[in-house]
Amino acid sequence: MTLKLTQPPVLRQRILSVLASTESGSLDATEVKNRVNEIYGHLWNDRDREKFLSRPVETKWWSRLGTQHQRMSEDGLLEPHAGEDVWTLTPKGWAADRALTLDGYDRERELERRQQMWQALLYKDGPANVEPSLLRALEIFVGQPGICVPAMTRTPATPDGVAVSLLNTGKHYADEVTATGAIYHYPNTARNGRHDESEINAAKAAFGLGLPVFLITPGSPQNTRTVHRGYIEDMDDTQQVLLVTFADGELPSPPTKGELEAAFKLTDDEALGDYSLRKNRKNQARFAFNVYKRYGTGCAVCGFTVQGLVQAAHLLSKKNNGSDDARNGLPLCANHHLAFDRHYWCIDPDLKIHAKNDGPTLETLAIVRTDLSHLALPPHDDAVTRIWNDWQSRR
Ligand SMILES: [Zn+2]
Repeated sequence: MTLKLTQPPVLRQRILSVLASTESGSLDATEVKNRVNEIYGHLWNDRDREKFLSRPVETKWWSRLGTQHQRMSEDGLLEPHAGEDVWTLTPKGWAADRALTLDGYDRERELERRQQMWQALLYKDGPANVEPSLLRALEIFVGQPGICVPAMTRTPATPDGVAVSLLNTGKHYADEVTATGAIYHYPNTARNGRHDESEINAAKAAFGLGLPVFLITPGSPQNTRTVHRGYIEDMDDTQQVLLVTFADGELPSPPTKGELEAAFKLTDDEALGDYSLRKNRKNQARFAFNVYKRYGTGCAVCGFTVQGLVQAAHLLSKKNNGSDDARNGLPLCANHHLAFDRHYWCIDPDLKIHAKNDGPTLETLAIVRTDLSHLALPPHDDAVTRIWNDWQSRR
């Protein structure tokens, strides 16, 4: 494989962002090159670092930055060269930097920074059961339990910053943190609502930018911490929860609108169709997240809402290859989930609730509703029809 020199658009981004980080948008040429090297030096490849035979001191990246300066002046991004070697942004240059802030240089740099944090953590025998002081030293987590937002991530485009990690030392249940992903409850400290809102905005920024985040859970022993690297796959403002999918390798790109509205699949063995790369990633917490997002967190048949006692139930069971589509699910309290799985009750295609003829009545089962018409969105017809037919055939 031949390495390619770092290409002009990237060099431009780096020059723009270094100049835009100053008040005046203006710096001496040597200072620009030094600052670019300070921030991005670790990203130069061996070819960028090669030297010219005729000029043994000068590296290729150093010389190529000079070439870009000239081209950027020609394009109106920098003031034309005027004797002394000072590089200065024009209004057009300032605008170009602002346009890049979201998906250009900032994201690239922040992605690289997070990758290095993760590598450093692995090098220090992480990510499981590490001392909290190590997380502080690596800037993975600093401050109070909640969402950690480094000051350096606050930019005009991301005024509340970009979340780097989520720490939950309080309530969370085994079914919400799995080996493949987790449901994380928005921080809710009544004493300072304003602060929470900005933290949640920072989580939204990480979600929107597709940047990796670190979810931190208690380790073993309890005073240590275990770090999971992943990305925020979805956020639910109504239920005040977000879904993290764990990933060690490269992060998939955000799903498109079409992918979000993927066709319903009742069973898992059907083709995946246009499911996005994101949704294909294994995440056992995803089903529960999507069920609560669709139907709320109260038991669909009795209204019970105690957190940790309501579960995401499959209509067509996993045993029968039932899919993890939320439309094949319902939130049910532990009792009604068990009663459903033991076929004591079922729903018909009109969403009416029925008890077994030779079993306990709905009243005995403490099912207070007669149908599911109270749900804002119903389960999928295919799922209900299938379980109803299966149930009928066992009577
Ligand atoms: Zn219930």
